[in-house]
Amino acid sequence: MSHLPNDVLTKVCKAAELVLASEHTIALTGAGSSTPSGVPDFRSADSGLWTRYSPMEVASLTTFRQQPEKFFRWLRPLAAQILKAEPNPSHMAFATLGQNGFIEAVITQNIDGLHQRAGAKVVIEVHGSLNTLTCIGCYQQYPSNGYIDAYIQQGEIPRCQVCDRILKPDVVLFEEQLPFEPWLKAREEIGKCDLLIVAGSSLVVMPVAGLPMKVIENQARVIIVNKTPTYIDDYAEVVIHGDVADILPAIAKEVLDV
Ligand code: ZN
Repeated sequence: MSHLPNDVLTKVCKAAELVLASEHTIALTGAGSSTPSGVPDFRSADSGLWTRYSPMEVASLTTFRQQPEKFFRWLRPLAAQILKAEPNPSHMAFATLGQNGFIEAVITQNIDGLHQRAGAKVVIEVHGSLNTLTCIGCYQQYPSNGYIDAYIQQGEIPRCQVCDRILKPDVVLFEEQLPFEPWLKAREEIGKCDLLIVAGSSLVVMPVAGLPMKVIENQARVIIVNKTPTYIDDYAEVVIHGDVADILPAIAKEVLDV
């Protein structure tokens, strides 16, 4: 971590002190924690993969229902990127902190499963996951294995083996409610925590973006690690504007070396 500038190192040490002093730390991660793994933010217009359509239009429930081919054409490059992505040092840092009892849960806006692949035990996927698909007709759920591979390679739209209707990836689209159980669990963790680490989220997608404010209202502390400023920066105990893949391992190292 010697490559980090001194002012950042000071903040890293302060963040580590907070983690060591806390009773119940949780993390909240967003797109920025997967971009170092090559997974683009699918909500971002400048993600580079989709120049022809606005994500808000094509990644919506309306498009999925009315023009599933268009939706699946849009999803294909993203799903391909996710399938080949590997966890980055920030995922490893959160997993290690969790395994050593310093983090109770990771709430994530990401759908790529990279926290679990890094070894994190408690991951709350508030925007769903690409790991499963559900039939829009009979609600039979399928693991993505095989279906997503075939779709990426041959462009075949995944269909239900029972009723032949289209399978919808279990990710939250625009116009869609968050899945009930993960959202409930996330709110529970937010209510219990005395420290929240926000990593790689610009905190603009509601309702998840509102969670850190609940933490502040509960007089608990917030650490922000994000490339760009967030609306919660003024309330946070530590704010580090940098790459999660540099900062989180530095914080974890500082915590674990004590
Ligand atoms: Zn079905």
